[in-house]
Amino acid sequence: MSDQNPVFIPGPTNIPDRLRAAMHVQTRDHRAPDFVETFAPVLEDTKKVFDTRDGTVITFPASGTGGWEAAICNTLSPGDKVLVARYGMFSHRWIDLCQRHQLEVQIIECSWGSGAPADKFEAILTTDKAHDIKAVLVTHNETATGVKSDIAAVRSAMDAASHPAMLFVDCVSSLASMEFHMDAWGVDIAVSGSQKGFMLATGMAILGVSPKALAAMEDAKLSRTFFDFRDMMGANASGGFPYTPPLQLIYGMRESLKMLFEEGLENVYARHFRLAEGVRRAVDAWGLKLVADTPDLYSDTVSAIYVPEGFDSNALTDQAFNAYGVSFGIGLGEMNGKAFRIGHLGSLTDVMVLSGLATIEMAMADLEYPVELGSGVAAAQDYFRRHRAALVRSAA
Ligand SMILES: *Cc1c(COP(=O)(O)O)cnc(C)c1O
Repeated sequence: MSDQNPVFIPGPTNIPDRLRAAMHVQTRDHRAPDFVETFAPVLEDTKKVFDTRDGTVITFPASGTGGWEAAICNTLSPGDKVLVARYGMFSHRWIDLCQRHQLEVQIIECSWGSGAPADKFEAILTTDKAHDIKAVLVTHNETATGVKSDIAAVRSAMDAASHPAMLFVDCVSSLASMEFHMDAWGVDIAVSGSQKGFMLATGMAILGVSPKALAAMEDAKLSRTFFDFRDMMGANASGGFPYTPPLQLIYGMRESLKMLFEEGLENVYARHFRLAEGVRRAVDAWGLKLVADTPDLYSDTVSAIYVPEGFDSNALTDQAFNAYGVSFGIGLGEMNGKAFRIGHLGSLTDVMVLSGLATIEMAMADLEYPVELGSGVAAAQDYFRRHRAALVRSAA
């Protein structure tokens, strides 16, 4: 099987040659004087992607889940109350993590396909006169359903309730691919990882932390060692790391930031919108339905698509893999068997997306879906021709 085929899973994403090359480095001494020169600018430049001036960037050798754990453990105490809405597998897993840390989790159950309910947050926060709720946790881009939530609206809701809770946002599958404005949205901790928008191998949890979250650290009683912000920030202050850093990933991150800035973040977001829109035109032409309830919720990094009644989405993704050597996202949790996902984030071009659409159409035809071969590709081609990409040759 050829490794030239891109993956269409919503992370880990395709690693461009330029980043594979950047990570292909021999061991270097992280206590040597030149480590500072490598690492400090990476932390500083990552702030631009979070769009924060006041925040601090903290990374750990971990996947995104480790980032969630770090956010919680550094700022909260056992028994603290947090408010979360559950509308997909990732919001669900964050809830589970909080519960295992003995936090009291107030859950708003929402249908899968909906987004963060700012109005319900506001109503609950308004009645919490004692300010028992210490943090509101929101998954910006619910990767299981392809739903993007409006973080600015959540911030407005919190402000309208004059509630001092911190706002923690999971932006693992949105950062560096969809607009994110940490300071403007008043986000206290934003959690991301290396293997999605940054187009790198998995292994670096990447957090943006506000001054308010850093202040909360002083009283936080949850135990932490590996994920202690204080150890990390203390070492980072002199350009170091409290233990062995994932050096190859840091080199990769340096190059990834270069690529993102060369393309321009605005263009990166526009490209993701365009690619997503091409996919959505294809879904429409197939006569299939997205899991996301309404257009304002459509994610630009992943589309979750219901298969027609009587079909099994796992058989479809298996067929695409077995017959054509291409991976698509399976349906997670409640969506298992009912929906498949097309990841369209990271290192992708119009041409690559067209190849993915063509492949899944072949798999659908093989399984006798009531879908006309070529219809989705034609709809995406039409969209891409009318919305030409600004070619950034170095970004591919
Ligand atoms: C990928 C992802 C995560 C993190 O998962 P890891 O496998 O731990 O990196 C968290 N939240 C969302 C929304 C994700 O898409």
